[in-house]
Amino acid sequence: MESRSKERLLYLAGSPKSEPIMEGNMPELPDLVVLVNRLGPSLEGRLIAGASVHEPIVLRILVEGDFASILSGQRILGLRRHGPFLHFELERNELVMHLMLAGRLRLAPRAEKKIAHEAFAIDLAPIVNDDSGGGGGDCLSYGDEKNMGKVYLCPKGDFSAIPGYKSQGVDIVSPAFTWERFSKLIEKKRNQARAFIMDQTMLSAIGNAYADEILFEAGIHPKTPCCYLTASDRRRLYEAITTVIAWGAAEVEKADRPVEEKVRDHMRVRNRGGEACPRCGTTIRKAGVLGFDSFFCPKCQPDRTGRGLDWSKLPGPSTPGGGQ
Ligand SMILES: [Zn+2]
Repeated sequence: MESRSKERLLYLAGSPKSEPIMEGNMPELPDLVVLVNRLGPSLEGRLIAGASVHEPIVLRILVEGDFASILSGQRILGLRRHGPFLHFELERNELVMHLMLAGRLRLAPRAEKKIAHEAFAIDLAPIVNDDSGGGGGDCLSYGDEKNMGKVYLCPKGDFSAIPGYKSQGVDIVSPAFTWERFSKLIEKKRNQARAFIMDQTMLSAIGNAYADEILFEAGIHPKTPCCYLTASDRRRLYEAITTVIAWGAAEVEKADRPVEEKVRDHMRVRNRGGEACPRCGTTIRKAGVLGFDSFFCPKCQPDRTGRGLDWSKLPGPSTPGGGQ
């Protein structure tokens, strides 16, 4: 599964000149939920001893000074998530990361082999009176094959210079994501269901892989305009968002792989073009939806607008992943 998904290259939506990217590397919300749960407790209270920078292009330093000297001597007070952003609260600053397409984090003893494509590393002082024998002299390293991630070092409480930070919509894994809230957001929307759920100013935050899984779970064709969705479609979509993200996080947790590895083995339709639908056996199709590749089952997710192709009546694709 891993090798197969790595063969599939995608292009950034709306940016045809972009380099092809390996979707398998792209962290999505369930990956970030697990990362925060795993790294947060290990980082809280840790003293930063120093830092080294190899790829300054990923850094946006919004305070006076250089990265290492600003960080040195500060404690990490906590790690939380704000939509797709990872937010490290420090004593005097805030360190906010958007991993984008290929950013990865690892917390490991400093003596261990470096993370691949290391852009920077933050050295943590050994834990005093650590009886476990481990945990001392660790390193939080950031690797990014594409150097497209963004890491902002901000003044305390000031996120105004971070694009997209304040405009994040309702966090879909927070108690604020209620049916009432969702109903209001989707009301009167006319864009396609897939585009709507991926709009981070509405819902924070659904990426390509889980957008396909959510629509499959809800039985909704990705191109269905929101105004065509019935009340029960909307309810199913709302519930699918909650259950699929929770299922994704549980699967990533269960796989128990290092946090820098992305777990996608559990995907039911994503990147499974040409394979049989796990529910009904119909061949899974791939279609372009506003510049993004989308995978769906034409039988479980019929196009009910009467405007699109009836995919279920077309012959199967000659190559896996085909069927445009
Ligand atoms: Zn199906």
